[in-house]
Amino acid sequence: MEDSRQVVQAKSPAWPRALLASWTLLGVFKGRQIDATKPCMLCSPAGSNGDKLDEDAQAQRDKEMDENANLPVRDNITTEESLDSRCPVCLSLLWNADGMVVSDYTDAVPRWVNNRLVGSLSLLFVSLYLVCCVGTLGWYFYEFWGDLRQVTHFVSFLSYGGILLGVAWVCTASNVLQYVRRAPGNSCRWYNVLHADYIARRLRCLTGRKFRLPASMFLTLSILWAVVNVAFQVVSLVQFLNSGNLKPEKMSSNTTCPTVVPQTAEYAVFVFVKTFLGMVIAAIGLPIYAAFWHYVLVMRKGLTAELNLVLVFVKNNEGRVDWCRRRVVEIHREVSLLRRILVRLMPFIVATGVLGLTVHISWNYNVYSDSEHEKCQKNLAKDNLIINIFIFSEKFMVLFLPLLAVGGLNIDHIWQQFTYALSRLKNSDHEEFWDRLMHFTKELDPEHKDIDLTVVLAVVSLYLGRNLTGQQLDYTKSGA
Ligand SMILES: [Zn+2]
Ligand SMILES: [Zn+2]
Repeated sequence: MEDSRQVVQAKSPAWPRALLASWTLLGVFKGRQIDATKPCMLCSPAGSNGDKLDEDAQAQRDKEMDENANLPVRDNITTEESLDSRCPVCLSLLWNADGMVVSDYTDAVPRWVNNRLVGSLSLLFVSLYLVCCVGTLGWYFYEFWGDLRQVTHFVSFLSYGGILLGVAWVCTASNVLQYVRRAPGNSCRWYNVLHADYIARRLRCLTGRKFRLPASMFLTLSILWAVVNVAFQVVSLVQFLNSGNLKPEKMSSNTTCPTVVPQTAEYAVFVFVKTFLGMVIAAIGLPIYAAFWHYVLVMRKGLTAELNLVLVFVKNNEGRVDWCRRRVVEIHREVSLLRRILVRLMPFIVATGVLGLTVHISWNYNVYSDSEHEKCQKNLAKDNLIINIFIFSEKFMVLFLPLLAVGGLNIDHIWQQFTYALSRLKNSDHEEFWDRLMHFTKELDPEHKDIDLTVVLAVVSLYLGRNLTGQQLDYTKSGA
């Protein structure tokens, strides 16, 4: 119970280069000094960061003042001497994996990465990704909308492009809002999830003296997967250019199959522009996509590690309801920030990804099993083989990376684990303390009920796949 007031301080180690590279892609570094110190709610200047529970805050503050009259309640000074005078909750917010207090981030990110030039270049990159996604989807709508024979192809691409667009939108919007609103890195805004300060707070709990790249396997494999997809894209582009599909007059020679669409010059232009945009999306978008989900995975690991540190804090401060409650509030706010993004992104991605896969599988069924034009269909399957593998590969990639990174449909499970662990710590010495803390923790995070689009869309897509006949099945005729 006795609070040992000695503070062991440490400096943050340098972040691994692979992390710096992948987060530069996401536009995390904008040349601002990283400030990972975040005062607890009572110590921070009132109203500065949109608190949710401000009603009890005043009452709690008064109580706190009586309890710890010797502790100054507000201090924003981050110099080393002031650390000793911080309240225990504030100090526990600065714990790293070894339980040392880390507030010095001068060595974490080198200047040549964290500067304004790099920041604006990454913003440019991320916006280019968004623009290309919108552009390609727009092209598809313009060309395929209302054409019943192209519905399979259209929906198939729409599901893939839509997912990429979702992530592009999150990255771009968060970057732009950080520039426009300039909210401090410790405020509770959803776009601050990609803020260097938020990231530094998460990484602190993953590191001790040394810093090994977290989730390095995931990053390596997903970047490799992205490179493979880009290679596929190049191969199918070459195949497409060699087949001479860009010249409309040649098309009449191989129209023995009734499924081939008559090609026009306008259509050839469409295919060309679309293929070009597709290349740019693959080359820029897929690495950013992989980096984004690696980042989500690292954030999830960081939050899990911090929840374990909270358990240690609660164990050390058994009986002090107010301190423990404040610590739980702090971590809950950090968890809900990431959750707020994922709760919108994940159902969309899973539903759309499942739709895309089902549509593509039904395309496979049509190509391989149609007996009407036996000879013709065989050629079709052979001609489309590379595109077929490529589409499977990219569709699996956009669906599985998020699922792996989040570890399910959302990150609620880490909060659940925390409440279980908390109730296991319970003992009869402080019956009332535990009851109040458990009650408070449960109240903080009521069960979330999100509409499950997944099942609905999967059924719809099966229906779509089975009931649309006479589709234009040859994807090679319209580029990759
Ligand atoms: Zn404090
Ligand atoms: Zn209550």
